[in-house]
Amino acid sequence: MNTIKVDHLGAEKCVTGSCHLVRFSETGKRDVNILVDCGKAQGRDPELPISEFPVAPSKVDYLFLTHAHIDHIGRVPDLIEAGFDGEIICTHPTKALLGPMLKDALSFTGRGKRKIQSIEQTIDALSWGFEYGQVFTLKRGIQFRLGNVGHILGSCFIRFSFPQDDEVYRIIFSGDLGCKNTPILPDPEPPESCDLLVLESTYGDRLHEGRAQRIEALERCVQNALADGGLIYIPAFSLGRTQELIYELDRIGVRVPVFIDSPLGLEITKMYSRMEDFWDQDAKALKARGDHPIDFKHLYAVARFREHKQLMAFQGPGIIIAGSGMCSGGRIVDHLEAGLGDPKNDIVFVGYQAKGTLGRRIIDGKEPIQAKVHVLSGYSAHADQSTLVGWVASMDPPRGEIRLVHGEGRARKALANAIGAKNIKY
Ligand SMILES: [Zn+2]
Repeated sequence: MNTIKVDHLGAEKCVTGSCHLVRFSETGKRDVNILVDCGKAQGRDPELPISEFPVAPSKVDYLFLTHAHIDHIGRVPDLIEAGFDGEIICTHPTKALLGPMLKDALSFTGRGKRKIQSIEQTIDALSWGFEYGQVFTLKRGIQFRLGNVGHILGSCFIRFSFPQDDEVYRIIFSGDLGCKNTPILPDPEPPESCDLLVLESTYGDRLHEGRAQRIEALERCVQNALADGGLIYIPAFSLGRTQELIYELDRIGVRVPVFIDSPLGLEITKMYSRMEDFWDQDAKALKARGDHPIDFKHLYAVARFREHKQLMAFQGPGIIIAGSGMCSGGRIVDHLEAGLGDPKNDIVFVGYQAKGTLGRRIIDGKEPIQAKVHVLSGYSAHADQSTLVGWVASMDPPRGEIRLVHGEGRARKALANAIGAKNIKY
């Protein structure tokens, strides 16, 4: 008799720190332990110490990564230091993004250069990129398939099939589900049937604006904000949001300088540019017409710290895109400290702001600032309620149990009601 146990070690009732454990037990044999993501919690979200994981890292056979955002991969170095030496499995683009993403994250942890290098080499040696859409077999006949979810470059859902007597038990981890019509990336692929769906619910209680409305909203916002000649600050994740913004600012044809003040954001933009095979049809068509989808005349790279210092003296008009996305560190903090006291300036939020972060406090009006604050929700890389409900509905029957994770209480409850399934936990 085989048993399968799924535990949520992180992001069960909040949005960051994703980590799930699947234990596959067969009588008389050692368990096969699979972790899905090992992310860092942000803001006030809880984080279970690795030493308290139900399974020691050295006993984890496989670590699957749904995508390369830090709240899904940020604790991979800690896991390795705690003894993990199994295989890391992800898509090819995620494998390519792991290096720069973790290198950047590691540089803030106080580890020495040598230590960082050795962790990077270990991650590179343990990780393997796989194709979307194909079925691969692990030990004991466990199979998996990675499906595209259009959240960021390389993002995927994972469908496992575990042999059980004469049948199979199938589990899908949605990872972070993207929106339809996301710039550069294809729409989320419909999931196949499964016995257990572990589904994210970040925006389970919200509806985003459509792509056309949100481009209009961005255009209006940019025009109004620049009318007085000031600066627009856009805090953005280096991975995903930055490239999306470049794409859409290119489409609306901005005529003021746009600065990407982020060495990591620039490196990842180059990767997005290189990996054309993973673009959607629109982006490919633009390129074929001679208009590169994520490059334009007024776009400036600010890589070196010296250049960042020079940019600090710039008065505008212009747009500054910098990390971190929730203003919890990085170069954006310097800009905000320098510019939020000036009513000519504007800050535009285009991403989720977790509780306890500076971004959330600014939105909630808890910071004494003079600059104007705008929130453009259509820019989320996460599916809204209707896309989440539609994705579940597109699944082949029979549909088994659904567990909602990766969302605050209100979002999980609203999404559970909207899905309306009987067998749903939230
Ligand atoms: Zn993500």
